[in-house]
Amino acid sequence: MYPTVGDTLSLSAEKNPDRTALVYPRKDQSWTYREFDERVNRLANALSERGVEKGDRVSTLLFNTSELVLTMYAASKLGAVFNPLNFRLPAGEVTYILNDAESSVLVYEDAVAEVVETARDDLKTVTEFVHVDDPDADTYFYDLLADQSAAEPNADVSDEDDYIVMYTSGTTGRPKGVVHAHRDMIEHSMSVLVDQQLTRDDVGLSAAPLYHSAELHVFLIPRIHVGATNVIQHAFDPEETLSMLVEHDVTVLFGAPTMWLAMLQANPESYDLSALRLGGYGGASMAPATIRDVHERIGCDLIQYYGMTELGPAVTVLYPDEQLEKAGSAGIPILNHDVRVARLDADGNALAPDEEAPTGTVGEIIVRGPALMREYWNSPEKTDAAIRDGWYYSGDLGYADEDGYVWVKDRADDMIISGGENIYPREVEDTLLEHPDVIEAAVVGTPDDEWGEKVVAYVAAESGTTAEALDSFLLGNDDLADFKRPREYAFVDELPKTPSGKIQKFELREDDA
Ligand code: ATP
Repeated sequence: MYPTVGDTLSLSAEKNPDRTALVYPRKDQSWTYREFDERVNRLANALSERGVEKGDRVSTLLFNTSELVLTMYAASKLGAVFNPLNFRLPAGEVTYILNDAESSVLVYEDAVAEVVETARDDLKTVTEFVHVDDPDADTYFYDLLADQSAAEPNADVSDEDDYIVMYTSGTTGRPKGVVHAHRDMIEHSMSVLVDQQLTRDDVGLSAAPLYHSAELHVFLIPRIHVGATNVIQHAFDPEETLSMLVEHDVTVLFGAPTMWLAMLQANPESYDLSALRLGGYGGASMAPATIRDVHERIGCDLIQYYGMTELGPAVTVLYPDEQLEKAGSAGIPILNHDVRVARLDADGNALAPDEEAPTGTVGEIIVRGPALMREYWNSPEKTDAAIRDGWYYSGDLGYADEDGYVWVKDRADDMIISGGENIYPREVEDTLLEHPDVIEAAVVGTPDDEWGEKVVAYVAAESGTTAEALDSFLLGNDDLADFKRPREYAFVDELPKTPSGKIQKFELREDDA
């Protein structure tokens, strides 16, 4: 039997009672492991008193807050299923998810109070609305904690019980609830903490959103597992993030490549970042120019993860010493995981797991590992379509090179077919990012009478940058075939992103339609 996610906190608190567990400067909170664990227990006991039982869903609509972390561990200790929502969702999406998950508790904050008010009447199952900022609210978070016992809650939770239902952020469509059991997360945590060489002396900063699996499962939970310190930033802001790195002697920071780009724009040389030993990134690969800039100007090693919510999310890792040599690759499988590339048939559909694509040939990336989701919530057909013979079909196209390194070309849905040629937008974007004036780039295909689809680039660049300049830059690049060059450029101030920093291409395509 494995510990549950809640047990990992209790065990860390036993081993490291006086070490700092959580720091949340926005509310001047700083708790040792003992203090943190006691608060979690109090919250769990209060929720139990209010009728929350094993298997019930407990949702949060919170930015990065201490209360999100407390709620997650409290739900876990009760055997309730944690359901963190993206804090930028509009009321309609919040309603959809909470009703789909049949959630009974919603913990929320001032910043999203209007959204909650708008959704409130349509929420069919939520009986407890818990406000973390407003002492006059019907249920105030800190009133729940007051006068409660700090003893471990009395619940019979097993490692095979559901721990979380996490809705994917929706860069491609309607969110689906990914269900993981406790055991999945323990295995996942152990697989990633070795690669980060995490110890309890580490200090992590959560700047990327905690409602997303990357920050929560690849960084925060493993750190609490080993008894390290966790600093919580309400929301990423490049200058504030850089200041917090200095102030708290942060050693590990994770961010999407777009977040690292934003920090590079914010004059990182003027901060003393000498404590920062490791920068994580994922969600997309990082352009070689950005990797070099982070090494030189921020001065930390980088580690990349590739994965998806359904796998916990980490699947492969690209180690610090291979960042430039294998730039653009997603690396090799993390411990205990297995990755293959399934061959595609003539219609582009992936074949069975044992029909592997030859080395260097693009197919669909399929994955097997101990943290594979149990199911999509309430969606047996979607679960069956995604998992075949124990392998998760990722929807990502890619190949394995002769060293076994995985290269993600693009999402199958993002691939552009122009004049019968397959074009992977990421390749074009990475080349555009090599141009010194380009800050961000996203390439999409739009319908075209002559070519089927045409390549369109959305670019945020230094003022004065022209389409002609970028086109001749690409023409001069021997690695990018001419037919992959964008036929049109649109200059924008900033690209639309999810809060986890991923570019929302469907919004760009809609703009173009
Ligand atoms: P959806 O709504 O389609 O589920 P999402 O962005 O909400 O998308 P996530 O599980 O967060 O869901 O994203 C997983 C996807 O992100 C992967 O399938 C892959 O396309 C992309 N991805 C993640 N990490 C990397 C990486 N290191 N390199 C390239 N692509 C990556």
